Amino acid sequence: MKNYDVIIIGAGPVGLCFSAALSGCGLKIAVIEKQSARAIADPIYDGRDIAVTHFSKQVLDQLGVWQHIPSDQISEIKKAKVLNGTSLYALEFNASDMGKKALGCLVSNHLIRKAAFENIKGLPDVDLITDVTTEEAYSNNLSAHIKLLNGEKLNCQLLVASDGRFSKIRQKMGISAKMQDFGRLIIVCQMELETYHDNVAYECFHYGSTLAVLPLCGNKVSIIMTVYQHEADILMNMPTEQFNTNIEQRFSSKYGKMMLKGERYSYPLTSVYADRFIGQRFALIGDAAVGMHPVTAHGFNFGLAGMHTLSTEIRKAVKLGGSIASQSLLEHYQRAHKRKTKPLYLATNAIAKLFTNDEQPSKFVRDILLKIANRASPLKKMIISTLTKS
Ligand SMILES: Cc1cc2nc3c(=O)[nH]c(=O)nc-3n(C[C@H](O)[C@H](O)[C@H](O)COP(=O)(O)OP(=O)(O)OC[C@H]3O[C@@H](n4cnc5c(N)ncnc54)[C@H](O)[C@@H]3O)c2cc1C
Repeated sequence: MKNYDVIIIGAGPVGLCFSAALSGCGLKIAVIEKQSARAIADPIYDGRDIAVTHFSKQVLDQLGVWQHIPSDQISEIKKAKVLNGTSLYALEFNASDMGKKALGCLVSNHLIRKAAFENIKGLPDVDLITDVTTEEAYSNNLSAHIKLLNGEKLNCQLLVASDGRFSKIRQKMGISAKMQDFGRLIIVCQMELETYHDNVAYECFHYGSTLAVLPLCGNKVSIIMTVYQHEADILMNMPTEQFNTNIEQRFSSKYGKMMLKGERYSYPLTSVYADRFIGQRFALIGDAAVGMHPVTAHGFNFGLAGMHTLSTEIRKAVKLGGSIASQSLLEHYQRAHKRKTKPLYLATNAIAKLFTNDEQPSKFVRDILLKIANRASPLKKMIISTLTKS
């Protein structure tokens, strides 16, 4: 039976970053991943282009991850506009209002994952164990234990699950979660534009669906649509030419010709909030703790913030010769992460519901809300500062 100080289940972007954040402080760390070594070392594009806040960029920079992302693959969001239905009125967020060059950056998820892997590759204190699912997890006051599908058993002082929003380990450790199924799917893809996007992001709330456009490098954009299942099936299987025309029309040809680049991807639209982020010698991080609706682009950003809080507490405990899995340390993490995530999680769900409800009263409320938000500078400032605070 192998012994570690910390075992992390899931080598997604958050799990890999967490292992980097703990490396070098004298702990022996294992990261267990069910995907193949190749899929982790060289992940393929998965349709997700991630809006990264200034704080997240700083954390990735400190960890050494940012340096592994090719600079010509990072684009900036200078302005963001929110539109309601066919109204031309837009709620606007300007980076220059906060004295910043950009509201945030955009990087493809697979490049973040690749960079996070490159960053921990070969570290003597991190064992990356791939191609094996964690089947069992349990803990007591002395240690935590896992059993892998190949029968191997591992022990540790602290077990951390970063196995995604539908976390099996969360269940195994007896932690329930609130799930909200929005009854829709997200379709994501990249498209090339005839005209330049000026680094402006759009969130358009149409009838029954939402459409977001994120400016990528060159003339490319990331398209994110939330649609009903039946419409998703049609859009996913539509011939390319017809798909291009369909999307152009949704934008009233604002960008001129739009051309699909690569595949279309779809994701279920379910947000998740764990009832507890901790257990005995156990913590949840990333989507396993808080799985956000992507409309406010905060899932990965929250994941990084959480892993930063937990790793900082663990490093402090190591320095002081204390326990890395004490109840007080874990409770500190839970309190801080709940305080950071709960208000925006609830607000995001409420926004997502309001803006995809096409009853007349909802449309009216949306119009009013956008106008109030545009004028009520404290609210706007709060949103912008969440994005740009470093
Ligand atoms: C369309 C879309 C757009 C998004 N846009 C943004 C955005 O703009 N900004 C933003 O901040 N966030 C965004 N997100 C959210 C972001 O992608 C997630 O928050 C982030 O990927 C979560 O990372 P994670 O490491 O917690 O989990 P995951 O990426 O889900 O990784 C979990 C890992 O655990 C592994 N695993 C699972 N179970 C086991 C097991 N039993 N044993 C071993 N391994 C296991 C999996 O194979 C996987 O590698 C978006 C999401 C979507 C779907």
